Amino acid sequence: MKKLLNALLVALGASALGTAAAVTLVDRAHPMFNDLPWIGAAIAAFGAAQLPWARRGRARMVAAAASLLAAPIWMLSVGDSLGPLPARMVIFGVDGATWDVIDAEPLPAFHAMSVEGARGDLISMEPMFSPLLWTTIASGRPVSEHGVRGFHVHSDDCKVARWWDIAEASGDGVGLYKWLVDYPPRTFAHGGFWVPSWLAPTPETWPARLSAVKEVELANRLRRKAVGERGASLALAERLVDVGVRLSTLSRAAAWTVEERLTHPDEPRRNTAMQLIRGDIDRDVFIAQLYAEAPAVASLNYYATDGLAHLYWDRYAAGGGELRAAYRQADEILGELRRRLGPKGRILVVSDHGFKAMDGSGTAGQFLPLTERLSARISAEVVPVDVTRIGHKLVVGTPSPADAERVRAWASTFTDSAGKPFYKTGDFPDDPGSVALTLADEQITADRMKIERVGGDPLSDYVTLTATYTGTHEQRGVILAWGAGVTPGRLGAVPLLDAAPTLLAGGGLPAAEDMSGRARVWPELPRVATWDGLVPGLRFLGADDEGVNEDMLKALGYVDDGKPSPKP
Ligand SMILES: [Zn+2]
Repeated sequence: MKKLLNALLVALGASALGTAAAVTLVDRAHPMFNDLPWIGAAIAAFGAAQLPWARRGRARMVAAAASLLAAPIWMLSVGDSLGPLPARMVIFGVDGATWDVIDAEPLPAFHAMSVEGARGDLISMEPMFSPLLWTTIASGRPVSEHGVRGFHVHSDDCKVARWWDIAEASGDGVGLYKWLVDYPPRTFAHGGFWVPSWLAPTPETWPARLSAVKEVELANRLRRKAVGERGASLALAERLVDVGVRLSTLSRAAAWTVEERLTHPDEPRRNTAMQLIRGDIDRDVFIAQLYAEAPAVASLNYYATDGLAHLYWDRYAAGGGELRAAYRQADEILGELRRRLGPKGRILVVSDHGFKAMDGSGTAGQFLPLTERLSARISAEVVPVDVTRIGHKLVVGTPSPADAERVRAWASTFTDSAGKPFYKTGDFPDDPGSVALTLADEQITADRMKIERVGGDPLSDYVTLTATYTGTHEQRGVILAWGAGVTPGRLGAVPLLDAAPTLLAGGGLPAAEDMSGRARVWPELPRVATWDGLVPGLRFLGADDEGVNEDMLKALGYVDDGKPSPKP
């Protein structure tokens, strides 16, 4: 027994020394790698604990000596001395962020920057879909001009120039990290990087070595296509470390793997853990690439604040930790960007919309309108359409305003058993090609589900009883400008169309005459007539025939997931 213990102690001491040496080697190539000082402290404590026994046996002495040597080696590689980030401007997009949560939570970076910087409510536009809204923020143009509707959209569907096209044309390197409607990627003439967002169906990135990030997210999808193989996860971890993933992120992922095996965590815990690991990877890789590629202007978009809000707004309101963890992570990322940017650096935080509890209470809040059958009916009977759900509202994207009119006429003839129209129609002034549909009678009950028919089909083809999604988008988003040239204060209500001119002014880039908004923080440069001349020359990488990542659309509730309706 004593022999075994001695062998164990020596092994622990030796492996501490070996690990510290290995971590030091990785850290020399990637100075942000070792970010876990507590492990160094634990090694030192282990070594110190052996000291009182050291005289009684050689094993204790070896264990103590090895650990006490390993601890300072470990600590020397903790942290980095990289100096200020070379970027002029970093845009941090926090999808669905609302001041309602930020102001109520202990989020030190947001709170400090609210005082040091200029903040306001970014007022979103209808239809309130993230791909459309991020395109408006990037271009300063409404949907009727940029043409990005719904979710089945690719980079080349955008008919106008976006900020990264403008920065590139102005001679800057650009870092683009997960801005919606950025698949497929392309190269930037003056350097930088491009990692597409969650709609991307394949792991393509520029440069290609960054695709490890997307392979993690698309793991299930790729595995179905039999790309995954034994030993692949270790190789993937190695590639992630190569592009900037830190030790704390690897250890969080490893801890999650153990927890998953041992405790069989529930869905909220699982969703949150996956989102947080993804957020850590994004932060690590984005910041490492800011140093490595030194783009002048760069953006990082964060989506857990939206995804977890759709699912767990009720749990947040009741004190639950899922959404809070996402906001905390966003705050940590923001804090690190603030700390690492030089005195000339600037940060613009924007969200595409705010968030609130799903309308209605009791049974009124417990239903979802369905997309699949409706989309098939309209496409067969009127014109091909794309139907997407946002909370209790459906948005029918049609090819033209005239088609939208025909869909409205069709909806007035689509009646329930009593002969009354099943849907109320609405329109979107900024997007005349889309029609809004809400249920004329939102009091859906299990009894109605059993007996009623609409348009000749069972009611259950068009609506389901579920309490899965408890939060939904609302108009008041977030805008926060910080850094060089920012006068601290309140901006009040800022129209979404002001975001692009503000962002361009902050990046030292000229806006165009065809953008109707204005810069709200930094002074504008003289405008050019239009940047749209850049669009025909854009060449995207790879085959553009993979559609979009439908699994993500289903998980977020924008389209039906094809599973049988859950019980209310
Ligand atoms: Zn959302």
